Parts: sequence; structure tokens; C-alpha cells
Amino acid sequence: MRKQIAAANWKMNNTQEEGTKLLNEIINSDVQVNDNQRVIFAVPFPYLVSANQQLNNRANMFVSAQNCHNKTAGAYTGEVSVDMLASINIQYCVVGHSERREYFSESNQQLAEKVDRCLSKGITPIFCCGEPLTIRENDGQNDYVAVQLNESLFHLDGETIQKVVIAYEPIWAIGTGKTATAAQAQEMHSHIRAVLANQFGDTVAANISILYGGSVKGANANEIFSQPDVDGGLVGGASLIATEFIQIIKALK
Ligand code: PEP
Repeated sequence: MRKQIAAANWKMNNTQEEGTKLLNEIINSDVQVNDNQRVIFAVPFPYLVSANQQLNNRANMFVSAQNCHNKTAGAYTGEVSVDMLASINIQYCVVGHSERREYFSESNQQLAEKVDRCLSKGITPIFCCGEPLTIRENDGQNDYVAVQLNESLFHLDGETIQKVVIAYEPIWAIGTGKTATAAQAQEMHSHIRAVLANQFGDTVAANISILYGGSVKGANANEIFSQPDVDGGLVGGASLIATEFIQIIKALK
């Protein structure tokens, strides 16, 4: 059965002291994370080791990287490889966040390589997809997202694709306070599942967690997560506030 997931994306926020405090407030709260759920913290690279120590193998809670390089090793100054992440016991990595696609020109092909790198080391890629506003305004979102999935994930086989988590994040809803309606989220998630089913079959598609991202907060998480094809959220801004993220975790099915 696919997992229900609350994933925090801290982006380039928090000093080590602030991050430690935030994580402590969340893990020492009354949140219960059952075996069908996962809580994931995508923290900046310098905090991966300390955040992992802080979680201390807490059941169903994990630390994630926010990015990795598409090559295995070499002369790529300033970059971080999947081997490095695996060597410090990191089990998740965000791949293809729209900010990386936009500011660092990451292509679908490069992202396919990143997905492969992660999977080769047993790291679960949290693969982000989603359309910009102009595409949505012209009703082109379904085709746009299908191409992203096709070019970055469809080289995988049916068994391997089930190791990927997908995050649908409409770019117009990220950090804007403008959330997709629950109906818009469900419509796209059901489209994504249909595209996956067409390629890999219904059983495989039903096993893949599809998260929604874009201005999720405590107040709207329940409604969004209650949609049948929404399996939780990838959360930016609201994940920086302990009370908000706790409410989001509690909204998981
Ligand atoms: C994100 O960074 O993935 C995101 C969805 O951000 P926010 O929740 O702030 O819109």
C-alpha cells in the first residue's frame, strides 16, 4: 500500500541552531507517525548528519537531501553526489524541484540521471513535477506534466518506479500563498496516476505515493490530503513553523 507522506522542504532557510530547535519541537511534540505514514525533513546539506542524529532512528521519520548531482563523482566543485548521501545514511532526495529547474536549468534528461543515481544507492527520489502559470492558463497542464514524467521516469521498469515518490507542485502555487483547490489537486493527481497506469499498469500506479506541493499549510492540509489520489504534501514555507508542520502531519490519512 502506498505511503502517506508529509515532507518538509526547508530550502535555503534556518541556521543550524534554528533548524535544531525546529526539528526538536516537531519530534518532541505529540505527533504519531504510523507505519503507513512517513515524515521527511529535506534539510540543507550542512545539517544532514546532525538532523539524522537528532531523529535517532525515530520510527517513520527520515532526513532528505534537497538535491544531488547527476554524475557519480569527479571535478564538479561545490556539488554533492549520491554516493556521499548514501555514505551518511540519507534515504531520500528531492529531485527536480521547480526552483532547481528554473534557477539551475535542470533538464528532464539530467533529472532522469539523478533519479537513476539515487535508485542505484537505495535512495528514494522525491521527484517534483508541475506546470508554470502560462501553461495552466492555456489548459496545457496535463500534457506538460505527462512529458516531465515521461522524460525523467519512463525509462524505469514497473518494479523500480514504485521506489519513486512523485510530488506534483504547480509552480504558480509555490511560495505564493495561492494554493490549488482540492479539486484541482485531485484532478491532476488522478491524471498523473492514469499516466503511470498507462505506462506501468494499474497495480503499479496504485502503489506510488503522489504528494501535492504549493502553499500547503495547517489550515488547508486536511481538505487537500483527503482527496483520494493525494498522498500527503511537500511543504515549503509552512514547514519552517513547528505548529504548522505538526498540524500538517496530523492531517495525513
Ligand atoms: C516547495 O518548496 O516545495 C513548496 C511547495 O513551497 P511552499 O509550500 O512554500 O509553497
